[in-house]
Amino acid sequence: MHTMAVDIGGTKIAVGICDEDDAIIRSWTVPTPKEADAIDKHIAEMYRETKKLYDDIAAIGISAAGNVKEDRHTIAFSANIPVWINYDLSSHIGDLIGHEVPVIVENDANCAGWGEYVHGAGQGHTNMVALTVGTGLGGAVVLNGQLYRGSFGMGSELGHIPMVPDGDFCGCGLRGCAERYTSGNALEHFARSAVRRRPQEASRLLELCNGDIDELEGKMVSQAAVEGDAIGMYAFNKIGEWLGRTMASISAVLDPDIYVIGGGVVAVGDILLEPARNAYVRFLQASAYRPHAEIAPATSGQDAGLIGAANLALH
Ligand code: BGC
Ligand code: ZN
Repeated sequence: MHTMAVDIGGTKIAVGICDEDDAIIRSWTVPTPKEADAIDKHIAEMYRETKKLYDDIAAIGISAAGNVKEDRHTIAFSANIPVWINYDLSSHIGDLIGHEVPVIVENDANCAGWGEYVHGAGQGHTNMVALTVGTGLGGAVVLNGQLYRGSFGMGSELGHIPMVPDGDFCGCGLRGCAERYTSGNALEHFARSAVRRRPQEASRLLELCNGDIDELEGKMVSQAAVEGDAIGMYAFNKIGEWLGRTMASISAVLDPDIYVIGGGVVAVGDILLEPARNAYVRFLQASAYRPHAEIAPATSGQDAGLIGAANLALH
């Protein structure tokens, strides 16, 4: 038996064919079409192609960046893929493939977090919170070994915890959300504003973006930070500190024993995690008198979303 796992992001769609143990045996990526029905058709087409190679596909599991309703079919809202407003992705794809197999949709961070819980850094832990630091900040909560989805499926939108009253405008329509201060976008924002204020210290970053600060990307900031560049390190210290503050807030409610940090930005390892750990300890309530959660990098990298989507779809 096989599962087709699909991870739909703002720029690309990743597809993985997984075996019964959620191991990815084949995967590829395609650019994300702009229109909702083009995305549906693309996935249906990939399913038909996949069936020619594997005639025992049991389910399609879809990881999608947005608020997924409790039915695991409908995306209520997506800040990154605005064509999805109350969009029943599962039925649209189901119609195109003659409802041959169930199509299960789940929030991208829930998929990635669940992937880390069953096969990655969260294994063996009772209560886990995963944070995906990518374009936005995604969250997944596992309590007593179960993925917690809330009453309406909208739980664990941890990137939208209000952190700063009247703070920066967020793609979700609110202001001051955690993901404005800790995410790939926030990393670029902190680096750009430092380059503008201190151009004399920004030679490496300016070189990496060919002198055009608007073209500065997160991966350039990561590269500079790994080389020890001061502004690169500054930007990671900023998002790391906000990550730690966010985790301290989450601990006040959930008290998990581990935080698993995933997403592209965590590739720099301790450059992000050290300031995060320090701020977590500093802002945690009763910090000196209580156990601290482990703060560990995700181990499945970009595959966690596919692995989690496959597992959720099969079970
Ligand atoms: C969205 C979440 C998503 C996260 C990571 C946030 O902006 O609200 O639904 O999980 O980004 O993609
Ligand atoms: Zn927000």
